[in-house]
Amino acid sequence: MEPSSGQMMPGFEHPMDIEEFRQRGKEMVDWICDYYSGVSERPVRSSVEPGYLASQLPRSPPQKGEAWSDIMQDIEHKIMPGVTNWQSPNFFAYYPANSSAPGMLGEMLSAALNVIGFSWIGSPAATELETIVLDWLAQLLDLPACFRSHTPEGTPSEGGGVIQGSASEATLVALLAARTQAGAAPEEAHRLVAYGSDQAHSSLKKACMIAGISHCRSLPAAAANGWAMDPKALEAALEEDKAKGLKPFFLFAVVGSTNTCAIDPLLQLGPIAQEHHLWTHVDAAYAGAAAVVPEQRHLFQGLHLVDSFNMNAHKWLLTNFDCSPLWVRRSEPLKQALSLTPAVLRAKGNALDLRDWQIPLGRRFRALKLWFVIRTYGAEGLQEYIRHHIRLAKVFEGLVRAHPKFEIAAPPRLGLVCFCLKDGSREQNAALLEALNSSGRLFMVSTDVGGKLILRFALGATSVQQSHVEAAWQQISQQADQMLSQH
Ligand SMILES: *Cc1c(COP(=O)(O)O)cnc(C)c1O
Repeated sequence: MEPSSGQMMPGFEHPMDIEEFRQRGKEMVDWICDYYSGVSERPVRSSVEPGYLASQLPRSPPQKGEAWSDIMQDIEHKIMPGVTNWQSPNFFAYYPANSSAPGMLGEMLSAALNVIGFSWIGSPAATELETIVLDWLAQLLDLPACFRSHTPEGTPSEGGGVIQGSASEATLVALLAARTQAGAAPEEAHRLVAYGSDQAHSSLKKACMIAGISHCRSLPAAAANGWAMDPKALEAALEEDKAKGLKPFFLFAVVGSTNTCAIDPLLQLGPIAQEHHLWTHVDAAYAGAAAVVPEQRHLFQGLHLVDSFNMNAHKWLLTNFDCSPLWVRRSEPLKQALSLTPAVLRAKGNALDLRDWQIPLGRRFRALKLWFVIRTYGAEGLQEYIRHHIRLAKVFEGLVRAHPKFEIAAPPRLGLVCFCLKDGSREQNAALLEALNSSGRLFMVSTDVGGKLILRFALGATSVQQSHVEAAWQQISQQADQMLSQH
């Protein structure tokens, strides 16, 4: 029948209405709580083979909607075997990806509001809360005042913070701001040079690739200075490149490298970078969280000399992925690089359209979860949390040092202990790691430094306790004894 005017059109009914959601949502919270209470019993690293899921799921989407209970059935049986349990207290791989109760509640609320805060009016609270919370976090980390959106007296400043999705995005955004600040004409772009150590995160190379910077210099870091960048090597490279007619513009320094948690010496690098008019970006994706404790702030000395600073609150600061705060000393080059609105049309001092501080247009309300975390834990709770992990790393380091068959392989720092079999070959260390990981009882990864394969024990899972560290060491040492006695 043709609908005629005045006749009601058929409406649309959603398969799950809000009252069913109320019930399913409560069930989901129960599922999550059960998952968290049992996660230490699950294998940490998934042991499925690539392609495992295709044989278990239909090739085509369903024609008619399915019952929620059927969908949830598949979670335990089909999805969970292919999940690597990053929230297990036995997860010691990579760097941690923290999750916490307030962090999850923040994610939940942000998903529910689902605002796209690219402009201030897109959701004034999203923009304003982000600015305020990053000013809070800047204080918690004791960053120089120039990185706050307002001076302590309350006047707007030239700098401020913005939450990026990842450290890699922060690297790219900083590099683009640096390129703008360098003022290189398009025909000069091929002369620009970016610098980092060979321990720098690969996001530097990727950012250069995306931005069309063909000169990305990787300076060799040496074991002798704890795999940190050598200021003399930087100076020499700068002179050499300038003599060739190139234009240095960007220094990528790391506080807490991915491989070994190496710390580049900002106090020495800063003045060199300033003399050569480089934009210095500090990548503290993992280690940045440690600045909440005063006794670790010596690792960050020299931040008053740098242009931008980034850390991942989603690594070691209890905030669910994704949350990667980036602070800049001056936001103008960033806005110049990323805004489509000509400077003359932009309201002066208007820092509020955060689309101009990032690559995408749309942006999530990420500040909520960070705000929830900071308010729930307080400065003291965050400090105790970080100290707890650093203490556990010391416990692990002590166990390694006390064992005759193992040695420490790089200066231990914060929650990371790099170690290996004493006089062990590459193959032996790799075999030990694979035996441990395939047991499912813990998960670590290895890395390559100075031509050696070493194992990384990265502390920082939200729920890790001393008992997990001791159990992990027992497995590691027993596995090694067993392996070495077979030879
Ligand atoms: C983890 C890490 C990164 C990359 O982080 P993403 O947020 O995944 O891009 C960059 N630098 C360092 C030092 C890291 O540890």
